[in-house]
Amino acid sequence: MSKNPLLQLSDWVLSTDPRQRLRIMRSLMAAYAYVGCFGLLLYSTWAGFVSPRHTVWVGAVALVNLVLWYTLLRSGANRRFKDPSLTLPQVLSGLATAIFAYAVSGPVHGSTLILLALVMVFGIFALNSRTAKIVGASTVLVMALTILYKTTTDPVHYPLSLEIAHFILIGSVMPTISTLAAQLSALHKRLETQKSELAQAVNRIQILATRDELTGLINRRHMMEVLNQHQKRLHRSGHHQFYLALLDVDHFKRINDTHGHNVGDEVLHRFAQVLESALRDTDILARWGGEEFLLLLNDTTADLANIAIERARIVLQDTTLVPSHPDLKITFSAGVTGYVEGEVLHASIDRADKALYRAKKRGRNCTVIDEETDHEEAIQPS
Ligand code: GH3
Ligand code: MG
Ligand code: MG
Repeated sequence: MSKNPLLQLSDWVLSTDPRQRLRIMRSLMAAYAYVGCFGLLLYSTWAGFVSPRHTVWVGAVALVNLVLWYTLLRSGANRRFKDPSLTLPQVLSGLATAIFAYAVSGPVHGSTLILLALVMVFGIFALNSRTAKIVGASTVLVMALTILYKTTTDPVHYPLSLEIAHFILIGSVMPTISTLAAQLSALHKRLETQKSELAQAVNRIQILATRDELTGLINRRHMMEVLNQHQKRLHRSGHHQFYLALLDVDHFKRINDTHGHNVGDEVLHRFAQVLESALRDTDILARWGGEEFLLLLNDTTADLANIAIERARIVLQDTTLVPSHPDLKITFSAGVTGYVEGEVLHASIDRADKALYRAKKRGRNCTVIDEETDHEEAIQPS
């Protein structure tokens, strides 16, 4: 579907990147003020208050400002700067233009004072509190010098008595705006910090909600979601057959009883690591509860699932689980079943559980593939 031409034009003028769009829109709002200022000078020239030469000068300065900032922002060159909004240079050039207009607009110069305030308002959103104060104070200083110069060189249009009134106005309004800018900037900073803390908290909560703390594996609840997704995928595509294996550490209670709960925890942690390293990246292992783990084996067959489990068994026997107890070895029993398309997940998990139970009964340290598959067999480790 083709886009509305007006939207296309706005994308072209303002860019499609939302951040850049905001920056460019803000800059163009300032350009609107430049145009207004230039209109005032045109009127003043027509009314005979300002010389055409000065109007051309102010117009040229405003145009250069407009083109310069728009080009920098639209081309994306602004991204290379620490503050990609280019707020400080834009505010400084705006203030300089307003002061220049003040100095050349003769009898209507009083009306240009509002521009100083307007430019500072743009700075409110992005200047940090220190910069806002420095900019405010420097503006007051530069204006004091400009007034001094004009009252000396052009006392007819800039009489001292009127300029004192102007200076009092500037001296009170500018610090107020820069203080406001400082407060807004502090608020902005606080909000940014809160936002990033919130994002971190959400991230942490997500990890806590989906992961098991001891082993780092996904937890039972999240595994159910993963299984649901796999179930849907199989239903949609008709392939991606998957197998489930329920693994249970043999005689784990003895480890706790003999070596203590902490060693038991360490064993579970290492057991999870060993299994994960021995399995394919596409297989998903979850802590199902206690010393029981559920393994999801993707796009495989019963034989291949069994081979993967036997490989994990061998790696487990070759690994030192707890460095302080190098002789401590564990074995596990496993019950394997294939997910049958259309059945509820609990049905296949139950079958895996029953197969696991049979593996335990057969003497542990073995895998049983459930009887609904063609060839139930207990596979003893070699
Ligand atoms: P079997 O071969 O029949 O599975 O025997 P088992 O001893 O492994 O089974 P049982 O269900 O009798 O004991 C499981 C033990 O696992 C009991 C429980 O205290 C321990 N356990 C469960 N979760 C944790 C855990 O997070 N940390 C530790 N250290 N032990 C745990
Ligand atoms: Mg056990
Ligand atoms: Mg158990």
